[in-house]
Amino acid sequence: MTTMRIGQGFDIHRFADDDRPLVLAGVRFAGERGLLGHSDADAVAHAVSDALLGAAGLGDIGQHFPDTDPQWKGADSMQILRAVVEKVRAAGWSIGNVDVNVVCERPKIAPHREAMQKNLAAALDAPASVKGRRAEQLGSIGRGEGIMCLAVALLTA
Ligand SMILES: [Zn+2]
Repeated sequence: MTTMRIGQGFDIHRFADDDRPLVLAGVRFAGERGLLGHSDADAVAHAVSDALLGAAGLGDIGQHFPDTDPQWKGADSMQILRAVVEKVRAAGWSIGNVDVNVVCERPKIAPHREAMQKNLAAALDAPASVKGRRAEQLGSIGRGEGIMCLAVALLTA
């Protein structure tokens, strides 16, 4: 019998005032405002990591990669995601698929969607889908103050 587990991940980052690059799912968005964060602030990598850890019952990303740890300052979050994938597999799980929503007024996600899906699928060795949504000018995300990301992951054993 196959055991299935679902996990949910959420992340939100505020736009930075300096000229750091915007990186989502390991894809650099040239000419777009970057996000504030201890690591590279890749909200997609963080939300997917949390969805995987949640599904496996392994806690959350903050527990495994604390933002007080200088080791993760400016870290490539796709590397964090790959480390999470290893932990999840070591616990006996296979990744079924991952689905992601990126919510922001800008940038447009669609032109980068393929590249993002490809990066995620390579890190997960499983299908990944990415969808972009606008917040219809509602709330902080709607005012363009940051980017929010939602992810679900399915694991099997
Ligand atoms: Zn984050």
